Amino acid sequence: MRKPPMETTTTKAETRPRARKLDGARVAAEIKREVAEEVARLSERHGVAPRLVTVLVGEDPASAVYIRNKVRTCGELGIISEHHQLEDSAESARLVEMVESFNAREDVDGILVQLPLPRGFDESAVIEAIDPDKDVDGFTPVNVGRMMLRRPALLPCTPAGIIEMLAREGVEMRGAHAVVVGRSNIVGRPVAELLLQRDATVTICHSRTRDLASVTREADILVAAVGRAGFVRGEHVKPGATVVDVGMNRLTDESEVRGLFGDDAERRLNTLRERGQTLVGDVHPAEVSRVAGLLTPVPGGVGQLTIAMLMRNTLKAARLRRGL
Ligand code: NDP
Repeated sequence: MRKPPMETTTTKAETRPRARKLDGARVAAEIKREVAEEVARLSERHGVAPRLVTVLVGEDPASAVYIRNKVRTCGELGIISEHHQLEDSAESARLVEMVESFNAREDVDGILVQLPLPRGFDESAVIEAIDPDKDVDGFTPVNVGRMMLRRPALLPCTPAGIIEMLAREGVEMRGAHAVVVGRSNIVGRPVAELLLQRDATVTICHSRTRDLASVTREADILVAAVGRAGFVRGEHVKPGATVVDVGMNRLTDESEVRGLFGDDAERRLNTLRERGQTLVGDVHPAEVSRVAGLLTPVPGGVGQLTIAMLMRNTLKAARLRRGL
């Protein structure tokens, strides 16, 4: 098992070394570069340009930002994007109809319905309506089943991105004890399965886990997908462990930001004052960076990988559908 390198710079107030940054942004940039090259080759050799259709229901500002980022990234990589907007007063059946019309279109390679859907929408029915071969989020039962059976599949973007980052950053998964906090269908469960496929010994924790810290402290690789700002504290982490922070929480309160970032809070407080919010993970950055060996930052970690893997899935779907 590779020992995570430690950065040795210290401040007067703090003598313990800090975790090295596990650079999701760098890996995401690398994946995007590869996808752009492949997209260009596909166009040259076969005259094909992958097309991603995105659908946003309602006006949720966070979802609108995610969609904008996805559309922008498509443009950067040469993938055609086509965005559709639906009122949140629309009916589930209307959304299912839309999805079916995209299924039927030859020129559509990927279909992404931004989740979560507003209240009243039948999320399962909408996801299940997506043609598995165009399911670039990897959420349909068919793709989940293929993944569990270790058959070729479109894998869910966030979990697959985490595995890609760990592999490319040289974190040994084989034989490592990986602990995943969270058991959702979109992050916790699939990332646990993919870690298992990489020969990690995997433990999944959730809100009913007894004495969480005693379990997470056993982790060589700790994945936090809880949805609570700064939930994973120093006491949850084994010294030198690799910590992957999946959380995306928006803080608007200055005292909470100070609590999470301690002496380093100033930059975050500036962001908060400028934008009215700042993005933080599920890991307590000030505490955990003093214990972990490697740690993903938020922002600049897992979030960027998710988009990069979405682009890769769109390219993959375009190729597979055409037998290329
Ligand atoms: P969910 O709310 O669906 O799942 C949260 C999980 O955390 C649940 O399994 C829950 O357990 C568990 N949990 C809650 N409280 C505790 C506790 N006290 N102790 C232990 N476990 C607990 O969230 P998601 O999986 O959808 O998302 C997790 C985080 O990841 C969020 O911050 C989200 O914004 C972020 N995210 C980031 C993405 C990215 O691209 N970076 C993509 C997707 C999500 P139980 O099952 O028992 O309720």
